[in-house]
Amino acid sequence: MNRFKNLLVIAALLLTVSSYCQDISKEEASVKNRIFFVELNKINPNILLDIRYSTTNNFTGKVVYPEARAFLVSDAAYSLDSVQRELETMGLRLKIYDAYRPLSVQKIFWEIMPDERYVADPKKGSRHNRGMAVDLTLVDKEGKELSMPTEYDDFTEKAHRDYMNITEEQIKNRKILEDVMTKYGFIGLPTEWWHFDYRGWENYEVMDVDFKDIK
Ligand SMILES: [Zn+2]
Repeated sequence: MNRFKNLLVIAALLLTVSSYCQDISKEEASVKNRIFFVELNKINPNILLDIRYSTTNNFTGKVVYPEARAFLVSDAAYSLDSVQRELETMGLRLKIYDAYRPLSVQKIFWEIMPDERYVADPKKGSRHNRGMAVDLTLVDKEGKELSMPTEYDDFTEKAHRDYMNITEEQIKNRKILEDVMTKYGFIGLPTEWWHFDYRGWENYEVMDVDFKDIK
């Protein structure tokens, strides 16, 4: 009888473990199913675009995006919409330099600058390749950029979030951007004041979908 009881306990344990595993895989599947891109200025037309990689005005000196468009995975995109709406109460707006970046473009960056201090190795992929990172700044109602510590893609110490040898206005502007972004789930990269990842980015895969294939 004891043996039978033991068997029952083992069976119950196995059932619990297997249902737990099922829950995890269901959760993973639902995360994957939720992956779709949202175009930032379509959900909120007050978000401005200055997509530098669709021009020659970027560190590569080349046009690497065929179109000036900006996408994030939906959760991140709708949080950015909340950021924009909060900034509007202060008379400010967001201006996007870069968001989702196809892996094919990451490979071009790596050919030009194979240095992991500045560019993510395409073998590992960037958080931008997951549609979970965004580069941006603040502009006023008229679309004029607020003064920030450096220009975009300045790969010097001056771009670091803790760099303080800048004007009080630049410190204040950098803080406004960081505070509102952090409030809605974004995490600032310590070495680039303009770069923010969205929480949970590690649950998303590196993607290589061209802009033209995103409706
Ligand atoms: Zn970035």
